[in-house]
Amino acid sequence: MPVTNYNKMHDKITYKISKKVSEVDPFKAYKMQQEGSLLIDIREQSELYLGKPLNSTHIPKSQLEITLLNVINDLDVSLLIICSSGKRSLFAAYILKELGFKNVFSVSGGFENWKNSELPYSIPEKDKPNRYIRQILIPEIGKIGQQKINKSKILIIGMGGIGCPAALYLAAAGIGHIGIIDNDLVDLNNLHRQILYSEKDIGKSKVLSAKDKLEQLNSEITIMPYEVRINSENINSIILNYDMVLDATDNFETRNVINNACIRHKKPNIQSSVFLFEGQISTFHPNFSTNAPCYRCLYSEFPPAFLSPSCSEIGVLGILPGLMGVLAATEALKIILDIKTNLIGKLLVLDLLEMDFSVYNIQKNKNCNYCSSIKNTDH
Ligand SMILES: [Zn+2]
Repeated sequence: MPVTNYNKMHDKITYKISKKVSEVDPFKAYKMQQEGSLLIDIREQSELYLGKPLNSTHIPKSQLEITLLNVINDLDVSLLIICSSGKRSLFAAYILKELGFKNVFSVSGGFENWKNSELPYSIPEKDKPNRYIRQILIPEIGKIGQQKINKSKILIIGMGGIGCPAALYLAAAGIGHIGIIDNDLVDLNNLHRQILYSEKDIGKSKVLSAKDKLEQLNSEITIMPYEVRINSENINSIILNYDMVLDATDNFETRNVINNACIRHKKPNIQSSVFLFEGQISTFHPNFSTNAPCYRCLYSEFPPAFLSPSCSEIGVLGILPGLMGVLAATEALKIILDIKTNLIGKLLVLDLLEMDFSVYNIQKNKNCNYCSSIKNTDH
Protein backbone atom coordinates (compact mmCIF):
# COMPACT_ATOMS: atom_id res chain seq x y z
CA MET A 1 0.00 0.00 0.00
CA PRO A 2 1.43 3.43 -0.90
CA VAL A 3 2.49 5.40 2.16
CA THR A 4 0.32 8.40 1.23
CA ASN A 5 -2.82 6.23 1.21
CA TYR A 6 -1.87 4.70 4.53
CA ASN A 7 -1.39 8.16 6.05
CA LYS A 8 -4.78 9.27 4.80
CA MET A 9 -6.42 6.18 6.29
CA HIS A 10 -4.59 6.71 9.57
CA ASP A 11 -5.79 10.33 9.74
CA LYS A 12 -9.33 9.23 8.94
CA ILE A 13 -9.39 6.63 11.73
CA THR A 14 -7.77 9.02 14.22
CA TYR A 15 -10.43 11.60 13.36
CA LYS A 16 -13.20 9.04 13.78
CA ILE A 17 -11.87 7.93 17.18
CA SER A 18 -11.37 11.49 18.37
CA LYS A 19 -15.10 11.98 17.87
CA LYS A 20 -15.80 9.11 20.27
CA VAL A 21 -13.21 9.96 22.94
CA SER A 22 -13.21 13.03 25.14
CA GLU A 23 -9.98 14.98 25.10
CA VAL A 24 -8.86 17.34 27.88
CA ASP A 25 -5.96 19.76 27.74
CA PRO A 26 -3.12 19.34 30.26
CA PHE A 27 -4.39 22.12 32.56
CA LYS A 28 -7.82 20.51 32.80
CA ALA A 29 -6.19 17.08 33.26
CA TYR A 30 -4.01 18.43 36.08
CA LYS A 31 -7.09 19.90 37.80
CA MET A 32 -8.98 16.62 37.43
CA GLN A 33 -5.97 14.73 38.80
CA GLN A 34 -6.01 16.97 41.88
CA GLU A 35 -9.70 16.16 42.30
CA GLY A 36 -9.09 12.41 42.28
CA SER A 37 -8.87 11.27 38.65
CA LEU A 38 -6.26 8.64 37.95
CA LEU A 39 -3.58 9.90 35.51
CA ILE A 40 -2.07 6.98 33.59
CA ASP A 41 1.10 7.41 31.53
CA ILE A 42 1.06 4.76 28.79
CA ARG A 43 4.44 5.46 27.17
CA GLU A 44 7.14 2.81 26.98
CA GLN A 45 9.75 2.57 29.77
CA SER A 46 12.41 3.82 27.36
CA GLU A 47 10.54 7.12 26.91
CA LEU A 48 10.41 8.02 30.60
CA TYR A 49 13.90 9.48 30.75
CA LEU A 50 12.22 12.69 29.54
CA GLY A 51 10.17 12.73 32.74
CA LYS A 52 6.56 11.83 33.65
CA PRO A 53 3.70 13.85 35.14
CA LEU A 54 3.96 14.08 38.90
CA ASN A 55 1.96 11.39 40.72
CA SER A 56 0.99 9.68 37.46
CA THR A 57 0.87 5.89 37.24
CA HIS A 58 2.99 4.27 34.57
CA ILE A 59 1.38 1.38 32.68
CA PRO A 60 2.82 0.78 29.20
CA LYS A 61 0.16 0.65 26.47
CA SER A 62 0.87 -3.03 25.81
CA GLN A 63 -0.22 -3.94 29.36
CA LEU A 64 -2.91 -1.30 29.87
CA GLU A 65 -6.19 -3.18 29.47
CA ILE A 66 -5.13 -6.32 31.35
CA THR A 67 -3.64 -4.35 34.24
CA LEU A 68 -6.65 -2.04 34.65
CA LEU A 69 -9.16 -4.88 34.48
CA ASN A 70 -7.17 -6.69 37.18
CA VAL A 71 -6.84 -3.79 39.61
CA ILE A 72 -9.95 -1.62 39.04
CA ASN A 73 -13.41 -2.91 39.89
CA ASP A 74 -15.28 0.33 39.47
CA LEU A 75 -16.06 1.14 35.82
CA ASP A 76 -17.12 4.67 36.86
CA VAL A 77 -13.61 5.63 37.95
CA SER A 78 -12.25 8.70 36.15
CA LEU A 79 -9.21 7.85 34.00
CA LEU A 80 -6.88 10.32 32.29
CA ILE A 81 -4.65 8.71 29.66
CA ILE A 82 -1.45 10.41 28.57
CA CYS A 83 1.21 9.43 26.00
CA SER A 84 3.90 11.51 24.31
CA SER A 85 1.86 13.48 21.76
CA GLY A 86 -1.77 12.55 22.43
CA LYS A 87 -2.30 9.99 19.65
CA ARG A 88 -1.64 6.67 21.38
CA SER A 89 -3.70 7.90 24.35
CA LEU A 90 -6.62 8.52 22.01
CA PHE A 91 -6.58 4.88 20.81
CA ALA A 92 -6.02 3.57 24.36
CA ALA A 93 -8.92 5.63 25.73
CA TYR A 94 -11.13 4.38 22.90
CA ILE A 95 -10.40 0.73 23.74
CA LEU A 96 -10.99 1.33 27.47
CA LYS A 97 -14.37 2.87 26.65
CA GLU A 98 -15.22 -0.17 24.52
CA LEU A 99 -14.29 -2.34 27.52
CA GLY A 100 -16.84 -0.50 29.65
CA PHE A 101 -14.92 2.25 31.45
CA LYS A 102 -17.33 5.18 31.42
CA ASN A 103 -15.11 8.14 32.28
CA VAL A 104 -11.99 7.96 30.15
CA PHE A 105 -10.18 11.03 28.84
CA SER A 106 -7.18 11.45 26.56
CA VAL A 107 -4.77 14.27 27.42
CA SER A 108 -4.38 16.35 24.25
CA GLY A 109 -0.81 16.94 23.06
CA GLY A 110 0.46 14.33 25.52
CA PHE A 111 3.45 14.75 27.80
CA GLU A 112 5.07 17.16 25.35
CA ASN A 113 2.15 19.54 25.87
CA TRP A 114 2.16 18.83 29.65
CA LYS A 115 5.81 19.82 29.87
CA ASN A 116 5.36 22.90 27.66
CA SER A 117 2.45 23.95 29.88
CA GLU A 118 4.93 23.95 32.80
CA LEU A 119 2.86 21.48 34.78
CA PRO A 120 4.75 19.45 37.43
CA TYR A 121 6.72 16.38 36.36
CA SER A 122 9.62 14.35 37.65
CA ILE A 123 12.34 12.11 36.26
CA PRO A 124 12.55 8.94 38.39
CA GLU A 125 16.16 8.21 39.39
CA LYS A 126 16.07 4.80 37.72
CA ASP A 127 14.90 6.31 34.43
CA LYS A 128 17.52 9.04 34.24
CA PRO A 129 19.59 8.57 31.09
CA ASN A 130 22.99 7.07 31.71
CA ARG A 131 25.63 7.93 29.13
CA TYR A 132 27.73 4.97 30.23
CA ILE A 133 24.97 2.36 30.00
CA ARG A 134 26.53 0.52 27.03
CA GLN A 135 29.74 -0.13 28.96
CA ILE A 136 27.95 -0.74 32.28
CA LEU A 137 26.25 -3.67 30.53
CA ILE A 138 29.66 -5.37 30.17
CA PRO A 139 29.94 -7.92 33.03
CA GLU A 140 33.56 -6.94 33.76
CA ILE A 141 32.46 -3.34 34.31
CA GLY A 142 28.93 -3.11 35.72
CA LYS A 143 27.80 -0.28 37.99
CA ILE A 144 30.63 -0.77 40.47
CA GLY A 145 33.25 -0.72 37.69
CA GLN A 146 31.75 2.46 36.28
CA GLN A 147 31.95 4.08 39.71
CA LYS A 148 35.64 3.15 39.84
CA ILE A 149 36.14 4.70 36.41
CA ASN A 150 34.32 7.88 37.45
CA LYS A 151 36.50 8.20 40.56
CA SER A 152 39.80 7.62 38.73
CA LYS A 153 42.46 10.22 38.09
CA ILE A 154 44.78 9.73 35.12
CA LEU A 155 47.71 11.89 34.08
CA ILE A 156 48.49 11.94 30.35
CA ILE A 157 51.98 13.25 29.61
CA GLY A 158 52.31 14.38 25.99
CA MET A 159 49.24 15.51 24.05
CA GLY A 160 50.47 14.43 20.61
CA GLY A 161 49.47 11.55 18.36
CA ILE A 162 49.16 9.04 21.23
CA GLY A 163 47.87 11.38 23.96
CA CYS A 164 45.00 12.82 21.88
CA PRO A 165 43.07 9.59 21.14
CA ALA A 166 43.83 8.24 24.62
CA ALA A 167 42.37 11.39 26.22
CA LEU A 168 39.31 11.24 23.96
CA TYR A 169 38.44 7.66 24.86
CA LEU A 170 39.21 8.10 28.56
CA ALA A 171 37.02 11.22 28.70
CA ALA A 172 34.25 9.38 26.85
CA ALA A 173 34.53 6.43 29.26
CA GLY A 174 34.03 8.83 32.18
CA ILE A 175 37.44 9.03 33.88
CA GLY A 176 36.57 11.58 36.54
CA HIS A 177 39.77 13.59 36.47
CA ILE A 178 42.22 13.75 33.56
CA GLY A 179 45.45 15.75 33.78
CA ILE A 180 47.06 16.66 30.45
CA ILE A 181 50.63 17.89 30.11
CA ASP A 182 52.23 19.53 27.05
CA ASN A 183 53.93 22.86 26.44
CA ASP A 184 53.62 22.83 22.63
CA LEU A 185 51.41 24.88 20.35
CA VAL A 186 49.28 23.25 17.65
CA ASP A 187 51.01 23.16 14.27
CA LEU A 188 49.51 22.42 10.85
CA ASN A 189 51.67 19.29 10.50
CA ASN A 190 50.21 17.89 13.77
CA LEU A 191 46.71 17.59 12.34
CA HIS A 192 47.17 14.31 10.44
CA ARG A 193 47.52 12.41 13.72
CA GLN A 194 46.69 14.64 16.71
CA ILE A 195 42.96 14.30 16.31
CA LEU A 196 41.83 16.58 19.13
CA TYR A 197 42.95 19.66 17.19
CA SER A 198 41.53 21.33 14.12
CA GLU A 199 42.70 24.06 11.75
CA LYS A 200 41.34 26.84 13.94
CA ASP A 201 43.56 25.66 16.82
CA ILE A 202 46.80 26.26 14.90
CA GLY A 203 49.11 28.45 16.96
CA LYS A 204 47.13 27.84 20.16
CA SER A 205 48.15 25.90 23.26
CA LYS A 206 47.68 22.14 22.82
CA VAL A 207 46.50 21.52 26.37
CA LEU A 208 44.00 24.40 26.34
CA SER A 209 42.62 23.35 22.94
CA ALA A 210 42.44 19.74 24.17
CA LYS A 211 40.67 20.78 27.39
CA ASP A 212 38.07 22.64 25.35
CA LYS A 213 37.37 19.63 23.08
CA LEU A 214 37.31 17.09 25.91
CA GLU A 215 34.88 19.20 27.94
CA GLN A 216 32.59 19.43 24.93
CA LEU A 217 32.63 15.64 24.80
CA ASN A 218 32.00 15.13 28.52
CA SER A 219 31.01 18.01 30.78
CA GLU A 220 30.74 15.72 33.84
CA ILE A 221 34.51 15.24 34.23
CA THR A 222 37.42 17.48 35.18
CA ILE A 223 40.22 18.23 32.73
CA MET A 224 43.33 19.77 34.30
CA PRO A 225 45.77 21.29 31.77
CA TYR A 226 49.47 21.73 32.61
CA GLU A 227 51.22 23.91 30.05
CA VAL A 228 54.72 22.84 31.06
CA ARG A 229 57.56 20.68 29.80
CA ILE A 230 57.82 17.85 32.29
CA ASN A 231 61.12 17.47 34.15
CA SER A 232 62.49 15.66 37.19
CA GLU A 233 61.45 18.54 39.46
CA ASN A 234 57.94 19.52 38.42
CA ILE A 235 56.74 15.93 37.87
CA ASN A 236 56.73 15.04 41.58
CA SER A 237 54.15 17.54 42.72
CA ILE A 238 51.89 16.82 39.72
CA ILE A 239 52.01 13.02 39.79
CA LEU A 240 50.92 12.89 43.45
CA ASN A 241 47.40 13.90 42.42
CA TYR A 242 46.88 10.94 40.08
CA ASP A 243 46.27 7.18 40.27
CA MET A 244 48.30 6.35 37.19
CA VAL A 245 50.35 7.85 34.40
CA LEU A 246 49.97 7.44 30.68
CA ASP A 247 53.33 8.20 29.10
CA ALA A 248 52.69 9.45 25.57
CA THR A 249 55.99 11.28 25.14
CA ASP A 250 58.41 10.82 22.27
CA ASN A 251 61.91 10.74 23.76
CA PHE A 252 63.95 8.51 26.07
CA GLU A 253 64.98 11.31 28.39
CA THR A 254 61.41 12.23 29.36
CA ARG A 255 60.35 8.58 29.58
CA ASN A 256 63.19 8.06 32.04
CA VAL A 257 62.00 10.99 34.17
CA ILE A 258 58.46 9.56 34.15
CA ASN A 259 59.74 6.04 34.97
CA ASN A 260 61.67 7.33 37.99
CA ALA A 261 58.74 9.36 39.29
CA CYS A 262 56.30 6.46 38.86
CA ILE A 263 58.62 4.12 40.79
CA ARG A 264 59.07 6.69 43.54
CA HIS A 265 55.35 7.42 43.88
CA LYS A 266 54.20 3.83 43.21
CA LYS A 267 52.07 4.68 40.19
CA PRO A 268 51.41 2.38 37.23
CA ASN A 269 53.07 3.78 34.10
CA ILE A 270 51.38 2.89 30.81
CA GLN A 271 54.04 3.60 28.23
CA SER A 272 53.61 3.48 24.48
CA SER A 273 55.74 4.57 21.56
CA VAL A 274 55.85 4.45 17.77
CA PHE A 275 58.58 3.97 15.17
CA LEU A 276 57.80 3.88 11.43
CA PHE A 277 55.13 1.14 11.16
CA GLU A 278 55.84 -0.32 14.60
CA GLY A 279 54.21 0.50 17.91
CA GLN A 280 55.05 -0.76 21.41
CA ILE A 281 53.10 -0.65 24.63
CA SER A 282 53.59 -1.97 28.15
CA THR A 283 52.49 -1.16 31.69
CA PHE A 284 55.43 -0.69 34.02
CA HIS A 285 54.51 -1.14 37.66
CA PRO A 286 57.48 -2.54 39.62
CA ASN A 287 55.66 -1.83 42.89
CA PHE A 288 52.97 -4.30 41.84
CA SER A 289 54.99 -7.50 42.34
CA THR A 290 58.56 -8.72 42.72
CA ASN A 291 58.58 -9.79 39.07
CA ALA A 292 57.11 -6.67 37.51
CA PRO A 293 59.72 -4.76 35.50
CA CYS A 294 60.18 -1.03 35.03
CA TYR A 295 60.93 0.83 31.80
CA ARG A 296 64.68 0.66 32.51
CA CYS A 297 64.55 -3.11 33.02
CA LEU A 298 63.50 -3.21 29.37
CA TYR A 299 65.88 -0.50 28.14
CA SER A 300 68.89 -0.44 30.46
CA GLU A 301 70.85 1.55 27.88
CA PHE A 302 69.36 4.19 25.64
CA PRO A 303 70.35 4.09 21.98
CA PRO A 304 72.33 7.07 20.68
CA ALA A 305 70.20 9.94 19.38
CA PHE A 306 70.93 9.17 15.71
CA LEU A 307 69.35 5.72 16.18
CA SER A 308 66.21 7.10 17.79
CA PRO A 309 64.98 9.88 15.51
CA SER A 310 61.67 11.58 16.31
CA CYS A 311 58.50 11.67 14.21
CA SER A 312 59.54 15.05 12.82
CA GLU A 313 62.68 13.49 11.38
CA ILE A 314 61.46 10.19 9.96
CA GLY A 315 57.73 10.66 9.55
CA VAL A 316 54.83 8.76 11.07
CA LEU A 317 51.66 7.15 9.79
CA GLY A 318 48.93 9.03 11.71
CA ILE A 319 46.92 5.89 12.35
CA LEU A 320 49.71 4.17 14.29
CA PRO A 321 49.86 6.59 17.27
CA GLY A 322 46.04 6.62 17.07
CA LEU A 323 45.99 2.88 17.65
CA MET A 324 48.61 3.10 20.39
CA GLY A 325 46.60 5.79 22.18
CA VAL A 326 43.47 3.66 22.05
CA LEU A 327 45.41 0.66 23.38
CA ALA A 328 46.85 2.81 26.18
CA ALA A 329 43.35 3.96 27.13
CA THR A 330 42.18 0.32 27.11
CA GLU A 331 45.06 -0.65 29.36
CA ALA A 332 44.22 2.21 31.76
CA LEU A 333 40.64 0.98 32.08
CA LYS A 334 41.82 -2.60 32.67
CA ILE A 335 44.16 -1.46 35.45
CA ILE A 336 41.34 0.56 37.06
CA LEU A 337 38.96 -2.41 36.82
CA ASP A 338 41.63 -4.79 38.13
CA ILE A 339 41.37 -7.02 35.06
CA LYS A 340 44.38 -9.30 35.37
CA THR A 341 45.03 -9.82 31.65
CA ASN A 342 46.84 -6.50 31.42
CA LEU A 343 50.30 -5.62 30.11
CA ILE A 344 52.21 -5.60 33.41
CA GLY A 345 55.35 -7.66 32.63
CA LYS A 346 54.41 -7.85 28.95
CA LEU A 347 55.29 -5.92 25.83
CA LEU A 348 52.76 -5.70 23.02
CA VAL A 349 54.38 -4.99 19.66
CA LEU A 350 52.30 -3.95 16.67
CA ASP A 351 53.65 -4.16 13.15
CA LEU A 352 51.19 -2.44 10.85
CA LEU A 353 53.18 -3.31 7.75
CA GLU A 354 52.75 -7.05 8.45
CA MET A 355 49.51 -6.55 10.40
CA ASP A 356 51.06 -8.50 13.24
CA PHE A 357 50.27 -8.11 16.95
CA SER A 358 52.74 -9.96 19.22
CA VAL A 359 52.98 -10.07 23.00
CA TYR A 360 56.32 -10.80 24.69
CA ASN A 361 57.00 -11.48 28.35
CA ILE A 362 59.53 -9.05 29.78
CA GLN A 363 61.55 -9.86 32.87
CA LYS A 364 62.50 -7.72 35.78
CA ASN A 365 66.24 -7.00 35.73
CA LYS A 366 67.39 -7.97 39.25
CA ASN A 367 70.29 -5.53 38.84
CA CYS A 368 68.21 -2.66 37.49
CA ASN A 369 69.54 0.58 38.96
CA TYR A 370 66.08 2.07 38.99
CA CYS A 371 63.68 -0.46 40.48
CA SER A 372 65.70 -3.35 41.90
CA SER A 373 65.68 -1.97 45.44
CA ILE A 374 61.86 -2.01 45.53
CA LYS A 375 60.41 -4.65 47.79
CA ASN A 376 57.14 -6.24 46.90
CA THR A 377 54.41 -4.00 48.24
CA ASP A 378 50.71 -4.50 48.55
CA HIS A 379 48.88 -3.32 45.51
ZN1 LIG B 1 63.79 -1.73 36.52
